[in-house]
Parts: sequence; structure tokens; C-alpha cells
Amino acid sequence: MLAIMTAPTVTHWTGTPYVGHADRVEDVINPATGRVSARVRYADVETANAVVSAAELAARDWGRSSLTARSRVLFRFRELLDARKEELAAIITREHGKILADALGEVSRGQEAVEFACGIPHLLKGAYSEGVSTGIDVHSKRQPLGVVGVISPFNFPAMVPMWFFPIAIAAGNAVVLKPSEKDPSASIWLAELWREAGLPAGVFTVLQGDKVAVDALLEHPAVKAISFVGSTPIARYVYERASSYGKRVQALGGAKNHMVVLPDADLDVAADQAVSAGFGSAGERCMAISVLVAVGPIADGLVARIADRTRSLRTGDGTRGTDMGPLVTRAHRDRVASFVDAGEAAGAELVVDGRAPQVDGDSSGFWLGPTLFDHVTPDMEIYTEEIFGPVLSIVRAGSYDEAVRLVNANPYGNGVALFTSSGTAARAFERDVEVGMVGVNVPVPVPMAYYSFGGWKQSLFGDQHAHGTDGVQFFTRGKVVTTRWNDPAAKPGGGLELAFPQNR
Ligand code: NAD
Repeated sequence: MLAIMTAPTVTHWTGTPYVGHADRVEDVINPATGRVSARVRYADVETANAVVSAAELAARDWGRSSLTARSRVLFRFRELLDARKEELAAIITREHGKILADALGEVSRGQEAVEFACGIPHLLKGAYSEGVSTGIDVHSKRQPLGVVGVISPFNFPAMVPMWFFPIAIAAGNAVVLKPSEKDPSASIWLAELWREAGLPAGVFTVLQGDKVAVDALLEHPAVKAISFVGSTPIARYVYERASSYGKRVQALGGAKNHMVVLPDADLDVAADQAVSAGFGSAGERCMAISVLVAVGPIADGLVARIADRTRSLRTGDGTRGTDMGPLVTRAHRDRVASFVDAGEAAGAELVVDGRAPQVDGDSSGFWLGPTLFDHVTPDMEIYTEEIFGPVLSIVRAGSYDEAVRLVNANPYGNGVALFTSSGTAARAFERDVEVGMVGVNVPVPVPMAYYSFGGWKQSLFGDQHAHGTDGVQFFTRGKVVTTRWNDPAAKPGGGLELAFPQNR
């Protein structure tokens, strides 16, 4: 067990635990019990500056260390993570509430990004052109930025930071991670793992806190790039604010993911997948399916299948082998429940009501059972808002075209899925749909780490997506070098020439 598991207060990290200055200290609550499981420091500006300074100090030497040295640290980190991922999963379940199997899945998907970053020597290879002009060669290289900030949401306290920091570190940067204040302990567990893997102090740092810490990172001149993941309003704010300070920014925002089911789909498979993708992690996933679009005459049969499966789910403490855990805070639980009230008031048909669930867990937990609405229309609040909870809405569409128009009219464009047995329909959908990540008979199409993750429209502000080759581009900047070595044996150079250089 790592020391943090028993530590009462979660601190910042600069290579060792760092207490900071006049920080506030707030509670971290276990959502399955409603009780305090830890305390966490909230950085003030002075603390933030101290953490950035530690990263700045480390960045220069790390950026100049060999690719071999860096990739060896990455490999060691990967081995340690793989061996101990259950410890991290337990921390995630305790502070986020998701069931243990789900937490383990989160860590494994994050590990894939570490594995991708282990290949950094290959990923940073430049190009070389010999003899672009007489006696002149050109080569390109990619160099680290320096200090980069990663600001992450509560719903994936390990995986989302791992979308960014392994590549950033492998590329030679120093990272300041600002995790969610709701589940901060995973960040310190990961920091301890880096130390054990042999990463020099300051290359991976952690700054705990809220808006004060975020703003300090957005404004600090030493922080050259910001990777943000969270809700759309905050993503937009972070993008605009950090850009105004001249930083490179990728800000991933919220989502409203549709699953379109065509009449030729296997309805049992579609129902299984809709329930898994709608209610996994209690719907607190940016790739959760929150709207199912049933096309044509299959709707009644599909809704009946989904309703049966929804009723069979067991809600409760994620450590007890249940299907679905609590929501992250009491306020969030109440907000999601208020959407259920609003859906009912707006006239949607409440097929399964999760507001008073039977729970295998402490009565003080933040429980809401899986909830299913049918006959939802696009003007209803339960359709227009990102609910981020276990509420699945069925919208009925008359045709494929109507379904695609609905998806494309939505302001978000994170993930989408099509269920069909027609290759022709799938091919048209792939082409027509205005969404960044598309699944064909796959409900949660989270790309592998060697592809890039990101949505379109209000789901991402910036040019580059997370991880994959976009991630390598984001955390490095390009340089092109043009070289001429005069041959001392040849005649002296060609004299003055003030015209723009032309290649010969
Ligand atoms: P959030 O926007 O409340 O918080 C995200 C981060 O921003 C946290 O670190 C938080 O401390 C910080 N923050 C909060 N308020 C701030 C403010 N006013 N100014 C500056 N910083 C602030 O998001 P959340 O509730 O933690 O996470 C859920 C949201 O994240 C959902 O909208 C979900 O769709 C989104 N999300 C998106 C993706 C994606 O890949 N697109 C992935 C995961 C989560």
C-alpha cells in the first residue's frame, strides 16, 4: 500500500508531498456513504506559483535527457501501474463511486496511453532531405514546450490525466496536473508511482484545488500549453482565457451522445449495448449514451427490451459487486433527479423511474437508480441538456435521414453509435454524421491510444485531439533546420547575393 492511502489530507506534489501556503482545506466525500474519506488542500496563487516553479526547474534538464532515458522511465511506470492497478481502482471507487470493475477498466484504458508513450523514440523521429539544393540538406525535429498544464474532470480521475501526461512527459515536458477536487487522491497515487519509476522530481507535479488553481495555471507565463477536460462552459472559458495569454490549448467539453438503431439491427444486442452504455458509471461518462434514436417500427419492441434490462440492474456500493454506483455528490444527484422531474412534467413517458431505488449500500449515499424515458422530443430539457447521470431518453424517428438530421442538429459532437446490419447504411452514416467519434455496432467508441480522442462542435475547443499523433503534436513544437557545410577543399564561396535564395 502506498502511503497516501492512509493520509488524512491530500496535498500538492512537487516530487514529494507539498503542503503549500495559506490554502483552504475541504472535505472529500465517499459518495457511497456520504461520509468524509479524506481532506484536500485548495491552492492559493502563491502555492500554484511554487508548484509551477518546481516544474519549470525540472523541465530544462528533462527536455534535454535522452530518448532512451525517458522511454525507460515510461516503461518502468507502465510495469508498476500494471502490477498495482487494483490499488488505484480502489481509490477511484472510494472517491468517485463507480463500481470496482469499471474503475479497473478506466485504469486499463489509461495504461494504453502510457504504452503508446513508451514508443516516444519512434514518435519523435523527424524527416531528413539530403541535397535539397546544391550542398544543402534539411531536417525537421520536434522539441518539448517546457511546462504544460493538465486540468481534469471528476469522472475519470486516472484515465483522463493519462490521456495527456504520459505523452507530455515522454516528449520532454514537465507537467502540472490539476485534478478534480472531488476525487483528488488518484493524482497523488500516480505521482508516487512516477517517483518509484525514477522520474526526476518536478517533471510530474500536482496542484490541488478549484478555479483559483486553474486560473493561476491559465495566467502563468511559464505554462506553455493547457489540456483541459470538463463541462462545455468551463472548457470554453479555459480555451478563451488561456489563448488570450498566448498558450496552446485543447479544451474537451461536454456531450450528448446518440445511439441510432435502424430497423435491421439485432434488437437484443442493441438493447444490451444501450443499457450498458447508458448506465455504466451511472451515466457519468462523456461517452455515455444519453439518447437512443429508435428508427421506424422497431421502437416498441426495442423499448420493451431496454426497459426489462434497465429494471434488472442492481444499484449500490461499488465495492459490493453491484452494476451501478452512486452519483458523485449529493448536489449532482439532486440535479439529475430534477431533470427526471422536468422530463415527467414536459410529458415524456417515464418507463423506469430511478428516483427511489432499492440500494445495496449505505442509506446516506448519493443514490439514483437507472431511469428510462420514452417519447422524448428535441425541445424537452432532458434532451437539450447534458444530464450526466443514469437517465436514458428514447427519441423516435421515422427514417434514417430524420435520425441523422437530429444528431447533426445537436450542438455537441463527441460520440455517436449506429446499430444496423447494413454495411451501406453504416458507410453513409460514417460519412454524414457530424461527430468526432463514431461507433458502428459499438456503443462507446473510445479510440485506442494510438488514435486521437476528441469531439466536434461544442465538445472540443482547439485544433488537436487527445493522445495518438495529435497528442504528440500538441506537446511538441516543430523546427526545421537547413544546413550547408562548405567543403574546405572546394573553391571559396560564391560571393554576395542579395536576391531571395533559390534552390539550384
Ligand atoms: P467541470 O467543468 O465542473 O470541472 C472540470 C475541471 O475544471 C475541474 O478540474 C474543476 O476543478 C475545474 N473547474 C470547475 N469550475 C471551474 C471554473 N469556474 N473555472 C475554472 N476551472 C473550473 O467538469 P466535471 O463536473 O468535473 O466533469 C464532468 C464534465 O466533463 C461533463 O460535462 C463531461 O461531459 C465532461 N467530460 C468530457 C470529456 C471529453 O472527453 N469531452 C471527458 C470527461 C468528462
